[in-house]
Amino acid sequence: MHITSVTGSAESLLLRIETDQSLAGCPACGVVAIGHGRRRIRLHDIPCFGRPVRLLWAKRVWRCPDSGCPTGTFTEEHPLAGPRAKLTARAVRWATNALERFDTSVAALAYQLGVSWHTAWDGIEAEARRRIADEGRLKDVDALGVDEHVWTHTGLPGSGMITGIVDHTRDEEGKVHARLLDLVPGRSGKAYADWLKEQGKDFAAGIKVATLDPFRGYANAVRDELPESITVLDAFHVVKLGGAAVDDVRRRVQQDTLGHRGRKGDPLYGIRRTLQIGAEHLTEKQAARLEKKLTTGDPKDEVTLAWHCYQKLRAVYHASPARGRQLVTEILTSFPTCPIPEIARLGRSLRAWKSAILAYFDTGGASNGPTEAINGVIETTRRIARGFRNFANYRLRCLLAAGGHRPYRRKTANHA
Ligand SMILES: [Zn+2]
Repeated sequence: MHITSVTGSAESLLLRIETDQSLAGCPACGVVAIGHGRRRIRLHDIPCFGRPVRLLWAKRVWRCPDSGCPTGTFTEEHPLAGPRAKLTARAVRWATNALERFDTSVAALAYQLGVSWHTAWDGIEAEARRRIADEGRLKDVDALGVDEHVWTHTGLPGSGMITGIVDHTRDEEGKVHARLLDLVPGRSGKAYADWLKEQGKDFAAGIKVATLDPFRGYANAVRDELPESITVLDAFHVVKLGGAAVDDVRRRVQQDTLGHRGRKGDPLYGIRRTLQIGAEHLTEKQAARLEKKLTTGDPKDEVTLAWHCYQKLRAVYHASPARGRQLVTEILTSFPTCPIPEIARLGRSLRAWKSAILAYFDTGGASNGPTEAINGVIETTRRIARGFRNFANYRLRCLLAAGGHRPYRRKTANHA
């Protein structure tokens, strides 16, 4: 490509370009074609010097001189941009890479390219589909996680549920760099089982560890479709169940003691978030405040006891395998008979998942990092886009953002 002129304004740069191609063969008969004038094509390229760049491509039109050939005229092609494209191929790659690597929006990229949202998205969408169709994406996966979330609050209650399928495979150093592999509508064993079937026998045969949230439907899908794998309950979800139990006790005690739902100024309401933090992450100030508020707000020590139970559950995942197993045994023995009904209920549901909880220690301890990391990226993507209306677009954006292209960050302290 040759640049024949550059004109700039405060808003944009305009580059006139043409190929140096001087000979072309007819695509049908191979006869050397003759020039048939030019067609000016407008394109948008990667921004430069802080300005959008527009290209004016004087595209050559050729004509086949052979009167018996059906070709007639044809237009030159160049990898710079496909036929009818509005963005150059590299501009599309630039924008798609940005969505893979950073928390940014299509609107922000469109602004930098100097195009409308729809023009930007049309290019990115095709590129995203191409990248996601790459078969290498699903190669060498040996640990699979599954998790559900709500992607939209429109429609009937429960209709916005999504099942996310996550790669939990470890690298040589034993680290998990979680990658989102797919999103399928619905929260059901069938949604997961259908997806597993679709990936074929080789994929299923490669899965050694299947990580789950405590939902029977997913467990059944794993039993049916991944019979060779070890089922592990995801540490993140186990800890979350414990946190939810503390919250339930807090709300009940709040109601019992003050006769109303928690509000500003109530001692238990003020510590609702601190109660969820791991004891090892509490600052001295937080710990002192927690103790003070529990002394006034929790006369029968129910929240306090639930909090200790929750901390014990968290400790399972911070302990050595031997100590961890011992803690699980203690928890499954003591929680179900706990006088606090919420903890007893938690104990019963954990007992139903005993082997999947213990399997954590047989699989080198899948940390709660992967699910949490992916959930975080998905949430941010949704927030930045200010929600999604179209599931297909939502899926593409999440697969770009959470597809494993971002630097892996360890869990930071002070994070429940
Ligand atoms: Zn021809």
